[in-house]
Amino acid sequence: MTWRRTLKRFPFLQALGADDIAKLRRMTSLFLDRKEFSGAHGLAVTDDMAVAIAAQACLPVLHLGLEAYDGFVGIVVHPGQAVARRHATDDDGIVHEYDEVLAGEAVQGGPVMLSWRDVRASGSTADIGYNVVIHEFAHVLDMANGVADGVPRLPTRISRTAWQRTLSDEYAKFCGRIDSDETTALDSYGAEAPEEFFAVASEAFFVSPRDLHAEHPALYALLAQFYAQDPASAARAAG
Ligand SMILES: [Zn+2]
Repeated sequence: MTWRRTLKRFPFLQALGADDIAKLRRMTSLFLDRKEFSGAHGLAVTDDMAVAIAAQACLPVLHLGLEAYDGFVGIVVHPGQAVARRHATDDDGIVHEYDEVLAGEAVQGGPVMLSWRDVRASGSTADIGYNVVIHEFAHVLDMANGVADGVPRLPTRISRTAWQRTLSDEYAKFCGRIDSDETTALDSYGAEAPEEFFAVASEAFFVSPRDLHAEHPALYALLAQFYAQDPASAARAAG
C-alpha cells in the first residue's frame, strides 16, 4: 500500500517503465535495510516518509547500483528547513558568523539531512525541476571520489575530460542566462558552483527531463550516459 501511495505522490517515479518500477521497489527495500533514519526536533519518521525518501534516493542509482551510497548510513529528517550556523573568514582574517537556511545537506561520510516539508512537496515542485532528495544524493555521488567538484566517480564509458568539458560549457551557458535574468529550466541556485550545477541539473534530469532536454541537450545527453537512463523519452511515452 505504502509503495502504491508513493508512486502516486511522485509522478516522475510512475513514469518509469514496469521493469524499472519493479527494480526501484526492490532497491528501495534494500535501501531501507541499509540506512538509518532519524527525526530531528521530535519528528517521528513514519514508514510512508522513509519510503518516500528511499524511493527518490534510489532513482538516480537505479542503473548504477546501490553500492554508490555505501559511504554513509544516516539520514536525518527535519520537519522543515534547518538553520545552520556558518563561519567564514574574509580577506582581512576576520571570522564572520552567519545563518544559512537549508532544505537539505550532504556531507562526506554522512549523514544526509533533508527537510520533510520539501520532500513532501516533491510531487508538485517537479514542474519547476526542484527535488531536494535527488539534489542531496547527487552530492553524495559527487563526493564518492573524495571531493564535491561536480565530477562524480565516472563509469568507464565516460572520460573525465569529456565530462569536465561538457559540464563547464553548459555551466558557462547557464550562468550567462542567469546573469541576463532569463527564465531557465534549472534552479538559479545551480549558478553557485559547478557542484551545485551538477546537483541542480540532476534534479531536473529526473523530475522535469523534457525541459532540461530542450534547454541543455548536451548536458541531458551527458547525464543520460552517466545515469544510464533516458527519463525524457520515458516521460514522452507516459504522455
Ligand atoms: Zn547543493
